[in-house]
Amino acid sequence: MAGDTPRVRFAPSPTGYFHVGSARTALFNWLVARQSAGTFVLRIEDTDAERGREEWVEGIVEALHWLGMDPDEGPYRQSARTARYHEAVEALWAAGVLYACGCTHDEVAARNAAAGILTPGYDGHCRDLGLARGPGRALRFRTPGEGTTVVHDVVRGDVEFPCAAMDDFVAVKSSGDPLFVLANVVDDIDMAISHVIRGEDLLPTSPKGILAWEALASTGWTTDGTAGAPAGAPTPPLPVFAHLPMLVNEARKKLSKRRDPVAVESYRDQGYLPDAFVNYLSLLGWSPPGGEDEVFTREQLIDWFRLEDVNHSPAFFDVAKLTHLNGEYVRALPTGAFVEACRPWLSGDRAPWAPGDFDEAAFVAVAPLVQERVAVLGEVPAMVDFLFLDAPALDPDAWERAVVGDDRAATILGAAVAAYRDLRTGWTADALHASTLAIAESVGRKLGKAQAPIRVAVTGRRVGPPLFEALEALGADRTLARLGAALDLLGAGAV
Ligand code: GLU
Ligand code: ZN
Repeated sequence: MAGDTPRVRFAPSPTGYFHVGSARTALFNWLVARQSAGTFVLRIEDTDAERGREEWVEGIVEALHWLGMDPDEGPYRQSARTARYHEAVEALWAAGVLYACGCTHDEVAARNAAAGILTPGYDGHCRDLGLARGPGRALRFRTPGEGTTVVHDVVRGDVEFPCAAMDDFVAVKSSGDPLFVLANVVDDIDMAISHVIRGEDLLPTSPKGILAWEALASTGWTTDGTAGAPAGAPTPPLPVFAHLPMLVNEARKKLSKRRDPVAVESYRDQGYLPDAFVNYLSLLGWSPPGGEDEVFTREQLIDWFRLEDVNHSPAFFDVAKLTHLNGEYVRALPTGAFVEACRPWLSGDRAPWAPGDFDEAAFVAVAPLVQERVAVLGEVPAMVDFLFLDAPALDPDAWERAVVGDDRAATILGAAVAAYRDLRTGWTADALHASTLAIAESVGRKLGKAQAPIRVAVTGRRVGPPLFEALEALGADRTLARLGAALDLLGAGAV
């Protein structure tokens, strides 16, 4: 039974990846729990046996952990609770709430067509036939023929569903397996859920859930002691409902798994920071009070968030905005924390250099400069690989544009070799800067333009950390060797 503190649940159906919309749902549930010393329950709705693979459950648990939203209870698995759903089926059957129906989809469609009914839906054919239960027969829920079921929704207000327009929905499939609506309600009762916070796509199932909840209560249904309530407690009053706004893409269309980047795992793998991701997710349907800045701490979010303030209009999932916000979080990290956050990108598959070639000191030296220039951590390896690869990863386009396509490139590179050689004993960014400035003047170029061929020759790319600090970190020997190699390559290309 719902006590004084909220008990909320995040109830994903495992699908193989973790949708950003699910993450937003999980977050809003988590926030309600955290701000009121409540309980955040994870329930895996895996009754669809084929879809409920164990590694997908692990993926959900890991994604929640990455986001800093570990559940207080669970994961509970619906697949482990089928006996309990069958008890509910028996109770509803005994009370006459369910009836058996042997109609096939085609039979219903044919009758509807013959009656000139264009909308699909069940016509109530078996409602009063008194059919026995048996193989090939589904169990339908006897919905009231009149009246209105109202979903009292914190976000959308009272949403009314006329019962006359509601089908006698299938509660138990002809295979005998209870369907989502029933399992969902049985669990919410047993787990003493006080708030049902979920995506707007589930709003149409809510009146069915409410009817099932009330029907169970009227049979004297009591809890099984799973969680949150002792065994034998009566069915609690209906939970509070909150249906969260849909997430849409740039075209204002519902986010699509095919078209849009919706997997939370891919953001984690690209190097978005969990705190930035959570900050961004919170803005999908909610905004901070009183014109506060949109960048805030998790503590502020917990403090400020109110379910009542959630907006019902579709929320644009704006990857560019998320990326920009992530960049702000990256830049705000203390350097040491940035270095630590980069670790997963500095070794293994994500690092293009050989394992033994990473040089901690060189990385730490350029880290503050790299930190200013990346929005996501996945950009880091390409910014620093020149330090750890034997030869720079030459970007052909950069080479074409900044070296081959520049008639002064050979002169600049040659002058750099000569001038830098003299700096061997005083190899500092300042000295390299001064000496490159002199080269730029001698060829009548601005410094930025003059340093482009040098950058490409040494780092392989046109963008990266500031050049002179990069050269300082790389050291004289390797810098001079790369300039020489570039000149050779250029000479060979010119033949
Ligand atoms: N398992 C349902 C889904 O993933 C959500 C159920 C709920 O939150 O009530 O769509
Ligand atoms: Zn029927």
